[in-house]
Amino acid sequence: MMNEVLVWKMVNVTVENLVKIYGEGDSLVNALNGINFETKNDEFIVCMGPSGAGKSTLIYMLAGLDSPTRGTIYIDEEEVTSMTDSTKCDLRRYKIGIIFQFFNLHPGLTVCENVQLPLVIAGIPKKEHQVKIERVLNLVDLDKRRNHYPYELSGGEQQRTTIARALVMEPSLLLADEPTGDLDSENGHKIIDLLHELAEKQRVTVIEVTHDESMLRLGDRLIQMADGKIINDFVLESEEQIPKYESLNKG
Ligand code: ADP
Repeated sequence: MMNEVLVWKMVNVTVENLVKIYGEGDSLVNALNGINFETKNDEFIVCMGPSGAGKSTLIYMLAGLDSPTRGTIYIDEEEVTSMTDSTKCDLRRYKIGIIFQFFNLHPGLTVCENVQLPLVIAGIPKKEHQVKIERVLNLVDLDKRRNHYPYELSGGEQQRTTIARALVMEPSLLLADEPTGDLDSENGHKIIDLLHELAEKQRVTVIEVTHDESMLRLGDRLIQMADGKIINDFVLESEEQIPKYESLNKG
């Protein structure tokens, strides 16, 4: 699927004592309860755990879309947690690609135009757009669908479009929250393979939240969460390891 090897930038993420408390009094929720981890270059991290474990909250914090109650996040030595909102915006524009379960494509724009949006928002000169768009559409194997509207695409193609859109600014960190959650298993596996290839060949660090245990065969590392904590964090070295991690998502 991927014809081109691009040199993406490297990124390191460090998370220290991250705490997120929502609400107060009787409605207080400890969504994150002291999270610590550090990524290595172009690592593919699979994050699993039961519903309510804090996985999405962690992705939101890493993306700078919400602020923690305590603790710090560094992305390449820059402290995300103390950035102004506009610097966090720049971080998402230039360094982080985000993929959610629901595709969030603009229905009135074609594949090509949806993928172009981050370039327009970032003020990238128009003459550079075409090359960048072609490159990522080629990566996700959608070059022949560039003039189609989202409603003309399958779920898998829509998700590939969102991946192209997340990659068009050449981020070094890709955050994915249940990217296969809305897809059938065949399309889900294609997306998984694609994300894995990106991590391996494009030197992108990927942190993916998923319920899909087949992801473990492709990930480099598993972070298992429960009750706002990391209860397991280990390198996935061989397929033989995997069966004993079954039922990771059960509470
Ligand atoms: P997961 O992604 O693992 O299912 P979440 O990060 O979505 O878990 O949620 C962790 C906990 O925080 C849950 O108990 C959830 O109800 C709570 N929570 C998440 N977002 C909010 C919010 N905006 N306000 C209040 N509670 C929230």
